[in-house]
Amino acid sequence: MAVPQRRTSKTRRDKRRTHFKLVVPGMVKCEQCGELKLAHHVCKVCGTYKAREIIKQ
Ligand SMILES: [Zn+2]
Repeated sequence: MAVPQRRTSKTRRDKRRTHFKLVVPGMVKCEQCGELKLAHHVCKVCGTYKAREIIKQ
């Protein structure tokens, strides 16, 4: 079985992990209420999309 020739340095390991993010990509802040919402989707909190009200409260 293949075995790594060198142990991955802390720098290399941490640089790799900079791509690990807390939130799933595709989550953006709502322009209306500032909550996290799915990009290209109507905000479930305030019911708006592109500053227009879609869902009547
Ligand atoms: Zn919103």
